[in-house]
Amino acid sequence: MKKVESKKDALERLGQFYIPVWENSDKSVANAIRIFREKWRSYSEESKRHNIITLIKQVIDPVVSGYLSSLPNQYLSFCPISREKCHYSDLIKLRGFRYAADQIHFYLRDFVDKSSQTEQDILFISTQDMLKSLFMICEGKKPNRSKLAPDINLKSDKKTRLCALCGNTTEFSQFMHTWTKHGYIERENNERNNDEKEGKKKRPDLSTNYCINHRPKLHDGSWNSLYKQAKRSAKQFEQEVLRLRRQIAHPDRQNAKSGDKLIDEYFYYFMLDSSLDPTNVPELRNLARKMVDSRLTDNKKRMLVLRRQNKSNKQIGIKLGEITGKPLSNQAVSKALGSVREAFKIY
Ligand SMILES: [Zn+2]
Repeated sequence: MKKVESKKDALERLGQFYIPVWENSDKSVANAIRIFREKWRSYSEESKRHNIITLIKQVIDPVVSGYLSSLPNQYLSFCPISREKCHYSDLIKLRGFRYAADQIHFYLRDFVDKSSQTEQDILFISTQDMLKSLFMICEGKKPNRSKLAPDINLKSDKKTRLCALCGNTTEFSQFMHTWTKHGYIERENNERNNDEKEGKKKRPDLSTNYCINHRPKLHDGSWNSLYKQAKRSAKQFEQEVLRLRRQIAHPDRQNAKSGDKLIDEYFYYFMLDSSLDPTNVPELRNLARKMVDSRLTDNKKRMLVLRRQNKSNKQIGIKLGEITGKPLSNQAVSKALGSVREAFKIY
């Protein structure tokens, strides 16, 4: 059997076209979603030839029918569609993606109330919840014309299109974008003219891993301090990206999975009114970059949560001492909280 690609690899490869699959969900439905996410980038509701509802009908419907057939009857009354007569694509065609997702949500809420959390119950809940998330991601999908994303089919740009240190496109991707928009010849000519003017033969080297701000060396050959700075915090950046992505996948509960209750709570409140969704990968990565660059440490996140709970600076200092082993004074707490950017405060 072929090894299943890791979540991280799939995320990197598919970028904004990644669709999450749930653990503990039905394997065949999860697999259908994996197939769907490989195909859906050029699909939309508007397109006739690449219609996204037709894709649901072809890839998702048959597998969901098979899955429902494997369930005992009592589960079917908690599902908005029937085994044979009505499929999700029918529901979506009639009422739209948002409606289908809402329906799953309402039925599931009733089910969760009655459930005794058996293994089969959990499988049902996870699978329905995963389909709900799929439909929410599909809602409002715009056709992705090749002109708007010229680098997607380029073999030479196999590496991630986004900067390794933020959410911007790589310098190379950016260049290819311009290249397609204005035509290669024009660009080539301009460069040749410039090169001749400057007496150089070499073409500029473009970073395939970093954006223009984060390329390791500047075009004059000197080290880029922004790169060095971002590289030092690369691990923390990746960690924040992961937490943000986990939280935005389940905005209705604390899901950052940081291993620390207060930090999970911070991400919950921070993302509660966010307009982002799991497909907004560049925005989420830029948010993580900003979080790291403005030194919003885990300790500050904890303080913000405790402040939200109306704790005094003194109480906050003591509580942090219990967690980190290093109690903080009134002044230290006050100073730390005062340094937090407005955009990262929670209310
Ligand atoms: Zn960057």
